[in-house]
Amino acid sequence: MTLEPDTIPTTIQPCDRNVDLARQEAQRMVDLITTVEAEVSDEDRRWVAQTTYQNFANHINKGFLEYRKSVTETNDFALTDWYGEGSMLRDVLGREYIDMLGGFGLYSAGIRHPKIVAAVKAQLDRSPQYSQEMLDPLRAHLARVIAKLTPGDIQYGFFANSGTEAVEGAMKLAKLYTGRKGFISTLSGFHGKTLGSLSLIGKNVYREPLLPLLEGVRQVPFGDADAVEMVLKSAKMVGDGIAGVVVEPIQGEAGAVVPPNDYWPRLREICDKYDTLLIADEVQTGFGRTGKIFGVDHWDVTPDIMCFGKALGGGVVAMSGFFSTAKIWKCMEPNPFMHTTTTGGNPLACAAALANVTVMLDEDLPRQAAEKGEYIKSKFKVLQEKYPQILQEFRGKGLLLAMVFPTDEIGYKVASGLFSRKVLTAGTLTNARSIRIEPALTVSYEIIDEMLTRVADTFASIDI
Ligand SMILES: *Cc1c(COP(=O)(O)O)cnc(C)c1O
Repeated sequence: MTLEPDTIPTTIQPCDRNVDLARQEAQRMVDLITTVEAEVSDEDRRWVAQTTYQNFANHINKGFLEYRKSVTETNDFALTDWYGEGSMLRDVLGREYIDMLGGFGLYSAGIRHPKIVAAVKAQLDRSPQYSQEMLDPLRAHLARVIAKLTPGDIQYGFFANSGTEAVEGAMKLAKLYTGRKGFISTLSGFHGKTLGSLSLIGKNVYREPLLPLLEGVRQVPFGDADAVEMVLKSAKMVGDGIAGVVVEPIQGEAGAVVPPNDYWPRLREICDKYDTLLIADEVQTGFGRTGKIFGVDHWDVTPDIMCFGKALGGGVVAMSGFFSTAKIWKCMEPNPFMHTTTTGGNPLACAAALANVTVMLDEDLPRQAAEKGEYIKSKFKVLQEKYPQILQEFRGKGLLLAMVFPTDEIGYKVASGLFSRKVLTAGTLTNARSIRIEPALTVSYEIIDEMLTRVADTFASIDI
């Protein structure tokens, strides 16, 4: 079923306090949530689409609507998230999309993997959150499972809700352990947007308006181990302490940038030489995405601290964490309350993460990612030969891939062409030169081929 969108007024309404209305509006959505999907009426669907748009304008941020509109280049009003399964997304009005964005890496196991959903539902009927006083079995068990899954002697962990919290925690741990305050990170790197991780990221647009951020952070080009060594060497000479070097194994947000093969082994060597912690931000690369369980597994490197997020919760519950060795973790033992969170690692999130690990291993998601990634790249190569003025380059590992275009303008045309052909990708107006292809690792070859057909159609439609 598809409904024609109505024209939507976007005037901003003043918002006075009205408790009765708050009660009514909350009840209406609760009733809708608890209605079986097949029985949601067309009238209700239209109501959701319209009020979502208005509520974004009035209560979230009008900027998002402008931004979406410019990306879509269609006359439809914004898509309204509603239903998903595997690699298919359906908006509230029934429009179906192929999901090649995978929630930026959130949906590695696909949307609503039945085993992950079942574990979370079962845990929901037992205990959704912790007492905060008793020992929580699922959290302890998950820490053991991840300790066994991670390389080398990584053994202890802390769970939180978002990727940025995992990075913040890793930074606190590095500062506590080393007694130093500086960090080295990379240009175009992404680590999250709370103030600590924001200090690390390598893009002026997000940092500059918020300066001063954390002191003693220096960004160097990604993939350049010599640059890291140079900063460590000069920091040592002038007495600036560097607590850690924070790097993504493969840069995600920057557009699936793969470093030279000797980069990670050299980072390990250099960090050992200067007695600085090596922190791998695996929030996007972890849990199978790049064709190995972790990104650092491509180079057999064991970092001192690893950060996880996104796919960790199986695409069902928000979940993140940071892990380190027994030796480093010892500094958190005298006062375990140095770093805490009320809801991080709650039973629902742990149930999701535990089920996600079983799914990842039972279905060998890393291998699936590796094989499907190679397949897509082989097809990109054919497309590149046919359309060299459009597809300048493609890169990435596993199913963290990107197409790169010669100009923003062409990239933007491809992004909107794919969008109008009902393929969701990570292509935006602000960073149009590359489009990320980051589907569920469970995506079928049939859907991959359909995506490739639509990419070819899009390329064919572009005049250069
Ligand atoms: C997405 C991401 C983060 C931030 O995660 P949030 O859950 O959005 O806070 C941090 N690091 C990397 C590498 C990411 O891709």
